[in-house]
Amino acid sequence: MVKRAFCVNCFKASSACICATIKSINNVHLLHILQDPSEEKKAIGTARILKLSLKRVKLTVGTLFDEQDFDVNNSYLLFPNEEALPAERLTDEVMINKKSTFILLDGSWKKAYKLLMNNPFLQKLPKVSINVDIKSNYRLRKSPREDGLSTVEAGYYLLSQLENNSEKFNPLLESFEFMIDYQISQIPPAIYQSHYLDKLQD
Ligand SMILES: [Zn+2]
Repeated sequence: MVKRAFCVNCFKASSACICATIKSINNVHLLHILQDPSEEKKAIGTARILKLSLKRVKLTVGTLFDEQDFDVNNSYLLFPNEEALPAERLTDEVMINKKSTFILLDGSWKKAYKLLMNNPFLQKLPKVSINVDIKSNYRLRKSPREDGLSTVEAGYYLLSQLENNSEKFNPLLESFEFMIDYQISQIPPAIYQSHYLDKLQD
């Protein structure tokens, strides 16, 4: 069996390596990504971009998490429900500090909901929502997230809004673009049209 070569850093196939596009970003707040195991090996998974780019970031793969690993008194969960506070408001009204942690669930909407149900301490955390003014650039699969974003885009909006600085986080979107462009370049045009573009318009 011929094994495909993988980049040990970004976990993509060597030919699809995104490492050269990654720029280090000195974000203020710790972003803790909780990843459903089904996302870990996906070629078009985007949590890895956050992991490689951000200075303050943690990525934990699993379905059950230990409450003791979290500062539950100063953590917020990105989850757009009715009680969620907009990220900008947290900053404007100084409800957060430099030690505040933001938790992002990485998985399909169904899987993310399951992570929440399986980990009651996550349910108790204050929820935060993001303002999304543009359409997702996720041209390969219908976004599994309820807000229609890929995980890296969700992280981009969250951190940009918390720090009121979108320029600083733009490299995240540039790496994402590169990854999507590469994946699309590997698909014959007719197939891309019928299997992806048409489906995205459902
Ligand atoms: Zn790489």
